[in-house]
Amino acid sequence: MSSATAPGQPLSQVPDQLGRFGQFGGRYVPETLSAALDQLQQAYDDALADPAFARELDDLLGAFVGRPTPLLFARRLTELAGGGQIYFKREDLSHTGAHKINNTLGQALLAMRMGKRRIIAETGAGQHGVATATACARFGLECAVYMGAEDVRRQSPNVRTMRLMGAEVRPVESGSRTLRDAINEAMRDWMASVETTHYIIGSVVGPHPFPRIVRDFQSVIGRETIDHCQRLFGRLPDTVVACVGGGSNAAGMFYPFVDHADVRLVGIEAGGRSSGEGEHAAPLSYGTPGILHGSLSYVLQDTDGQTADVHSVSAGLDYPGVGPEHSYWRDTGRVEYTNVTDAAALETFDTVARQEGILPALETSHALAWAVEEAARMQPDQILVVCLSGRGEKDAAEIARLRGQTEAAD
Ligand SMILES: *Cc1c(COP(=O)(O)O)cnc(C)c1O
Repeated sequence: MSSATAPGQPLSQVPDQLGRFGQFGGRYVPETLSAALDQLQQAYDDALADPAFARELDDLLGAFVGRPTPLLFARRLTELAGGGQIYFKREDLSHTGAHKINNTLGQALLAMRMGKRRIIAETGAGQHGVATATACARFGLECAVYMGAEDVRRQSPNVRTMRLMGAEVRPVESGSRTLRDAINEAMRDWMASVETTHYIIGSVVGPHPFPRIVRDFQSVIGRETIDHCQRLFGRLPDTVVACVGGGSNAAGMFYPFVDHADVRLVGIEAGGRSSGEGEHAAPLSYGTPGILHGSLSYVLQDTDGQTADVHSVSAGLDYPGVGPEHSYWRDTGRVEYTNVTDAAALETFDTVARQEGILPALETSHALAWAVEEAARMQPDQILVVCLSGRGEKDAAEIARLRGQTEAAD
């Protein structure tokens, strides 16, 4: 497929002024929001030119989040796979247990630069809601989090955490009462409140400039990984793998590597139960280009062009779209994308718990499942790094429930 990139131009030189990654991205929003998005772009450009901004964010990422996160040799998993060496980039050790805090702190700082003291966010599984509530508590910002009523029920520990941090959780009763409906409500709020309110989007999705800003805030993951690898091995890894929901942990991991053409980059989507419509959440594997939530990217659509239903055992991957830069990387061939089923992710969750003493998030377990299979095909001197995007304690109860049902059905 065509792209706007001239031959030889680095893949890192995107997006353009209009927020385009090749044909993808852009800004498809009502006029009301255009001025706020321009203001955000301006605030971000100013922040990039202000050394005090980088210093403040770095200090927070150190003392509040606990960065840099370690790079761990997964010794027993490597032995089990019997091939290349598997390393974990430990985003699960970040404050609040996943990579999402890197983005919410950065965007909270931008909101304050714009003089906005009210924050809204949407959340599905609740992790982005928790990371947003945490950043708001840290800075004393007002916070409202939209969440589908069904998700409020399923993710009650995260709801409790958000409320303890002083956030207001607003259950959304419309539609399927899940993430999609929460995003629509958050958009509606923002259109009415945009003068005083910043909307913290939780992944590399949405209208320009969000995909670029979120990617940049998450790129600390890839930069640290490059540093660690240079110090430990004197070279870059052979293969880097990350799970892809909206795509923020993967974009943050991959972006610093994209101009290093000899490093293989692989994104893993949620293969769900099967490749049938409504049975998975893998737009880069099975979708087509379309507009969703303000930008053009691969989307899962039914034959009428409506956004299709999605399914994944992991709530954080259960989204019908994906960030536009991933669509660009897919079509340029720079990043390979494939998917892993619910069953394989669940099995790998157990394996990693027993082999390494780490409960990985179910989202991450998708990337780990592919990594274990791939390591077996690699040579012992080759290095594979997995982005361990988050911890899995949040998933233990759901896994027990699924197993209970399975055992009862047997
Ligand atoms: C939210 C989440 C994801 C999926 O979101 P991305 O934007 O694709 O990174 C993956 N892993 C964990 C642990 C998450 O919390």
